[in-house]
Amino acid sequence: MPNKIVVLGAGVSGLTTAYLLSQDPENQITVLAKHMPGDYDIEYASPWAGANYMPVGKQGTNHHAWERDTWPALKEITEKYPEAGIHFLDAIIYNRKKDQETATGKWFSELVQPNPWYKDVVPDFRDIPASQLAPEIDNGQIFTSVCINTAVYLPWLVGQCTKNGAVFKRAVFKHIADAANAHHSGQKADVIVNCTGLSSKFLGGVCDENLLPARGQIVVVRNDPGPMIGLSGTDDGEDEALYMMTRAAGGGTILGGSYQKHNWDALPDPNLANRIMKRAIAIAPQLVKEGEGIEGLDIIRHGVGLRPLREGGPRVEKDEVAGVKIVHNYGHGGFGYQASFGCAETAISLVKEVLQNKTRAKL
Ligand code: FAD
Repeated sequence: MPNKIVVLGAGVSGLTTAYLLSQDPENQITVLAKHMPGDYDIEYASPWAGANYMPVGKQGTNHHAWERDTWPALKEITEKYPEAGIHFLDAIIYNRKKDQETATGKWFSELVQPNPWYKDVVPDFRDIPASQLAPEIDNGQIFTSVCINTAVYLPWLVGQCTKNGAVFKRAVFKHIADAANAHHSGQKADVIVNCTGLSSKFLGGVCDENLLPARGQIVVVRNDPGPMIGLSGTDDGEDEALYMMTRAAGGGTILGGSYQKHNWDALPDPNLANRIMKRAIAIAPQLVKEGEGIEGLDIIRHGVGLRPLREGGPRVEKDEVAGVKIVHNYGHGGFGYQASFGCAETAISLVKEVLQNKTRAKL
């Protein structure tokens, strides 16, 4: 008897989990979601992400382990499958100690510190000599990272899953347990993997009050600064951020941003957009021609996404709701891509525990 598995959600968490689960022919997988790759919606975080690998998990935490364990998978996909829309790119990180207590500074605290744990994970990590840093920068580092074109990568994951036999269906659920009755076999699912991101705050049977949005506003431009750049904070506001990255395969350059907790506003704020563009040019003048300001930026679009942040960290654990076995995998804040494989692997080990218990119960 195949394992009947429902993956609820088709963001990077659901698709990565489905991709790995679909590699076992014993698993019969239905991916159910309100939004699918190709959609742009404030309830769907994944398309808005940059997305790159800039680790932020505190050393010794699950978050650290999930990010550490994701790098080899992203590296392998980048090397083996150019059609997945990921490329290697240098990442330059700058730290200003004065940002330490701000919302952005706390988010980036592990990323920007000298001698971080990830120096042994990513290739080519090196410190930038103090003589090459601007006076306001306390330390800087550079390493090889990846930048993911989410408009290519998410459909690529769908393609890999369908090639392995997974079935995708649009569906919206008010209660998580109802998804067990929507498996494409027509039979009840053995287990649901809940990858609904921020919507788990409102989904019946879950209603997780620890979830909150960390609003990220971006400007996507045709200009190319070369390497990716991230700074620990800005002087414009404690929940504003400065980062940029050029996506693989013509995906444009993402200029960020913001990290506005509890802010649900789906509309781009034009004043914030101006500050984002000005900051980007100040730190990377090569974005525009000499002497040009923000008028030299060729804007593709403005965007807003809500990072599904969770107090206490992501929820990757077993649960049972109304007699239905659940494995949760949600609440990945601003690190859903860079922790995607680590979290999916943990979720899958929990799915295996559920399925083993089912088999034992039948014997
Ligand atoms: P989502 O992408 O939100 O997907 C949720 C899915 O669940 C959707 O398919 C939705 O339709 C479905 N769903 C929800 N409720 C229901 C329901 N009731 N019934 C049916 N379906 C439902 N991360 C990085 O690692 N690197 C980065 O550089 C990065 N940059 C970012 C920049 C911005 C501006 C933003 C906003 C985020 C960024 N992130 C980054 C974070 C990353 O985008 C998120 O952590 C990740 O996308 C979360 O994915 P998810 O699959 O958990 O949730």
